[in-house]
Amino acid sequence: QLDTADTFSTHSEIPEEYYRFELYPEYRQIQQQQEEIQSLGLGNPFFTPQEGIVNNTTRVGGRELIDYANYNYVGMCGDPKVSQAAKEAIDRYGTSVCASRLLSGERPIHRELEREIADFIGTEDSIVYVGGHATNVTTISHLFGRNDLILHDALSHNSVVQGSLFSGASLIAFPHNDWQTLDRLLQERRHRYRRVLIAIEGVYSADGDIPDLPKFIEVKKRHQAWLTIDEAHSIGVLGASGRGIGELYDVDRADVELWMGTLSKSFASCGGYIAGSKALVEYLKYTSPGFLFSVGISPPNAAAPLAAIRVLKAEPERVKLLQERSQLFLELATKHNLNTGMSKGSPVIPIIVGDSLKSIQLSQNLFHRGINVPFMIYPSVPQNAARLRFFINCTHTEEQIRSTVDILADEYQKLSEQTD
Ligand code: PMP
Repeated sequence: QLDTADTFSTHSEIPEEYYRFELYPEYRQIQQQQEEIQSLGLGNPFFTPQEGIVNNTTRVGGRELIDYANYNYVGMCGDPKVSQAAKEAIDRYGTSVCASRLLSGERPIHRELEREIADFIGTEDSIVYVGGHATNVTTISHLFGRNDLILHDALSHNSVVQGSLFSGASLIAFPHNDWQTLDRLLQERRHRYRRVLIAIEGVYSADGDIPDLPKFIEVKKRHQAWLTIDEAHSIGVLGASGRGIGELYDVDRADVELWMGTLSKSFASCGGYIAGSKALVEYLKYTSPGFLFSVGISPPNAAAPLAAIRVLKAEPERVKLLQERSQLFLELATKHNLNTGMSKGSPVIPIIVGDSLKSIQLSQNLFHRGINVPFMIYPSVPQNAARLRFFINCTHTEEQIRSTVDILADEYQKLSEQTD
């Protein structure tokens, strides 16, 4: 509601920007940013169509490029076994289940997938939603409310923040990875709230670093809080067999209430899951709005991750390769004095450039030299922390990584000479 001083006495006084969308200041800001990029002769860098399956390469405008823009971490998207399973599911069930699962949208493949996810992670059960982003929004906003407190890492994904805001709980962003400050915050205020949720990630998606999970578990236990871990970028990636951050640190899986993850990265599909106790999953299945009031995940989208998990169990060497290639990229980039920020032990490797336009330019220069890597600029990352973000996957060859880092260092150097 507007302050009394800003209200209108007649409809004719209402500024057009309040009801004509093309005049919304927020929309004009986006237009301005695009105009700035175009004025540099860079063309629109967004929504570039990729013309085939993306793994270590991609095809754009008929050109083949080495690709670092996709999170097909363990090469499951495009894997013949995974594609075949999705095709068979379409033949058997069609392309949609055409109803909420609670009513008549349930198919045997749904429970098979949920049991496979739970078995892979090491929890009692799991529930699958149609979107990864929606999974966080609906679960967090549903489980927490007024009188509750949510403390999330300052670099938490938008879906966690949105879910927390929608919940109506009090919200605190604690400094990145800083479990000591978190501990202190809880020491001071735990007693004033009913439920408390701590939200962290397995691998941070813009920085590629990993939190000290055992410490967070200690803190959550000390303060009778819940812990949720978003494993979007750590499932299929961390641990000797890709079972995620729980495997990496060998923690008791029951110490984390919500093991959240997406099906869109290592599992070559679209959707999200919450793995946890039998009681939690049962409750969510009967009550969470994003599950009840939404269609069940489509048959091909359920079959693909089910097949992907089974392939990964049979071929854990994919995880080892992914980890080796990621390590190689990081070492080479460090040797070239490129700023990889906090990235460590993960396939998400930023090259921090600082200036937004410089990082857009660098991304485009690399594109011309056969490398597809996106830039990230404000507001996705803080001002002056613009970057290129490389996603490594297990199909990248050693040679591709070596040549990429050489070209990257060369282009970075040239650009610095022009702009400094
Ligand atoms: N959590 C994190 C940490 C993510 O990076 C993303 C998307 N990249 C999501 C959740 C949302 O997942 P999805 O894209 O599968 O909706």
